[in-house]
Amino acid sequence: MDIFCKIINKEIPAEVVYEDKEILAFRDIHPVAPVHVLIIPKKHIESANELSDGDAQLIGKMVVLAKKIAQDLQISEKGYKLLIRTGKDGGQEVPHLHLHLIGGAELYEEIRPIN
Ligand code: 5GP
Repeated sequence: MDIFCKIINKEIPAEVVYEDKEILAFRDIHPVAPVHVLIIPKKHIESANELSDGDAQLIGKMVVLAKKIAQDLQISEKGYKLLIRTGKDGGQEVPHLHLHLIGGAELYEEIRPIN
């Protein structure tokens, strides 16, 4: 079982900021900015590669929730970054789909032109 399924099952603790029957959001254990929240589906989906048409509403809900959490944590006005790493080249470490919500600092540098 992956580590995020264990967090969903309350087998390991996390600082939860939102929960409903489909989605869990909690603080990243190694934040890269003052606000770093991971938004995950409770249903096990390994990565964006495993998404199907039937998951469109769930993914939409995760993005809308990210906006609401950003508002609650007062980073909306200055802005934030939403990120889904996918697979090896994408740098995904945990094999359970997750949307990073990162903000509270200037985050200009992560993606750069290659030419
Ligand atoms: P990825 O690189 O897969 O996109 O991101 C995985 C994220 O999960 C990393 O930012 C990492 O810090 C976070 N993470 C890994 N294990 C745990 C954990 O046990 N608890 C929490 N809260 N975050 C974790």
